[in-house]
Amino acid sequence: MAKIISQFKDKIIDYLVATILGGLAFLFGVILKSISPKLINSIPKNVLFATIGILLLIAICLLTVLLIRIKENRKLSKFGLKWDKSFNAHCPACESLLSEYSQYNAGYGFHCIKCNRWISIYNEDGASITLKQAQESIKNLF
Ligand SMILES: [Zn+2]
Repeated sequence: MAKIISQFKDKIIDYLVATILGGLAFLFGVILKSISPKLINSIPKNVLFATIGILLLIAICLLTVLLIRIKENRKLSKFGLKWDKSFNAHCPACESLLSEYSQYNAGYGFHCIKCNRWISIYNEDGASITLKQAQESIKNLF
């Protein structure tokens, strides 16, 4: 449950950063269109360049945060599942964190509550493998 809450918080931060970036770009465009050339010429050049510089710096910082978070949240597809950097299994369809690991008729796997389906863990040969075997194999891939 704590992992799901943590994932939700991560997504909220991503959406906030993306919204702020989009809002800044929109405001910048509106301001540039609405300012007449006479007004721009009346503003001291150093104030104008400082303002543009600060806005660009804020946008670059937010973009950097967003790119770092996207890179951190990237998941690896392997053994019929998606894996995060902490070797947690995620549903290949909805990317939800999987928690109901067990052995069932077809072998080892998870039940995705969101998709309501069983997802097997299998190797390249199609044979069922355990969660521990899968996690050991992907450790070298990150
Ligand atoms: Zn799912």
